[in-house]
Amino acid sequence: MKTLSNYSLKQNNSFAVDSISPLVYCPSSESDLQELADLLPASFYILGEGYNTLLVDSRAPVIIKPEFFGVSIRECDEGYTVSAAASENWHELVLHCISKGINGLENLALIPGSVGAAPIQNIGAYGVELSQYCSEVTWFDFDKQQLTQFTNDECKFSYRESIFKHGLKNKGLITQVTFFFTKKWKPNLSYAGLDDLPTNVSAQAVLNKVIEIRQSKLPDPNELPNAGSFFKNPLLNKADWLELKKLFPDVPSYPQASGHVKVAAGWLIQEAGLKGFEENGVGVHKNQALVLVNYTSNSGGSISTLANTVYNKVYEKFGIQLEPEVRAVFSTGESTLIRLSHG
Ligand SMILES: Cc1cc2nc3c(=O)[nH]c(=O)nc-3n(C[C@H](O)[C@H](O)[C@H](O)COP(=O)(O)OP(=O)(O)OC[C@H]3O[C@@H](n4cnc5c(N)ncnc54)[C@H](O)[C@@H]3O)c2cc1C
Repeated sequence: MKTLSNYSLKQNNSFAVDSISPLVYCPSSESDLQELADLLPASFYILGEGYNTLLVDSRAPVIIKPEFFGVSIRECDEGYTVSAAASENWHELVLHCISKGINGLENLALIPGSVGAAPIQNIGAYGVELSQYCSEVTWFDFDKQQLTQFTNDECKFSYRESIFKHGLKNKGLITQVTFFFTKKWKPNLSYAGLDDLPTNVSAQAVLNKVIEIRQSKLPDPNELPNAGSFFKNPLLNKADWLELKKLFPDVPSYPQASGHVKVAAGWLIQEAGLKGFEENGVGVHKNQALVLVNYTSNSGGSISTLANTVYNKVYEKFGIQLEPEVRAVFSTGESTLIRLSHG
């Protein structure tokens, strides 16, 4: 198995901060994974393309960087089964499917990162989540040293959540994700920005529109390092939401099937007076308050301090505890980013 020593991860995280890992394992086969299972230290971090990862310390833990590639497509009367290996690029997969007339993932275009990371937080955008098309996840179990298949139900997907983020965290590694796309495709135009497209629009046209909107709204990590939405949109129960709405009638809110109400975290951050705030070479983006950006810092610690400032200011103003969407990795492994001074 390929290994790298004293490796700088500056090019492997979208905040572009420097952090050195003593050892990086790059498994690319099942036998590599079996070998790896015997070598695993107490703490390690599995890294995809690093678009949802904040390396907080200048030292990183042992890193596992899977290198599994390949896409296969099977057609049947009803639709297509597409299997993609974990290290394939997500957006390339979306483009590949649409170019073959396999529709469904167009709303999820331009989400940066790898296929293997996509089920971890059940990536979602423009009214669609991965869980709507994911039929199976192939996962290597470090204990049993074998591959296991998870059905969609077994993945326990919900908003930015899955079983891989919780009960199975660090117990194994995703090697492949399988999707099923029906031939009876209908566009999902429910989301603002897409709702003015005609109902007979092609998937390619939806894809183009999603790309256009995303490029106009979100800072490109290659130009201004960031990890997209830093915090999740909080889900409030009805009573808490009514209380909030009484005090802040303008709060953008989205009722959920569960009875909860999702509140726009970006709005909370903006109303806490932090839009465009800068300190130590990092800041809250001037147009998208949910995105923390790195202007000039080389240190993940600066982003971590900023995230704590944002958390505390929002809590002081609204009594709402934001939960980071970005994964925080310290020299000792992944841990919680927020030093709770409240709650
Ligand atoms: C500009 C921008 C826009 C974004 N927009 C969206 C959006 O619209 N919707 C959305 O949902 N997300 C969005 N994100 C977040 C990000 O794109 C996703 O979280 C993506 O899945 C990250 O992929 P990655 O390979 O870079 O993951 P990484 O940051 O490398 O890892 C993320 C998590 O996945 C785990 N992981 C990675 N690979 C594997 C594997 N093979 N097996 C097991 N665990 C693994 C890691 O341990 C970590 O916990 C955005 C990010 C950016 C920078």
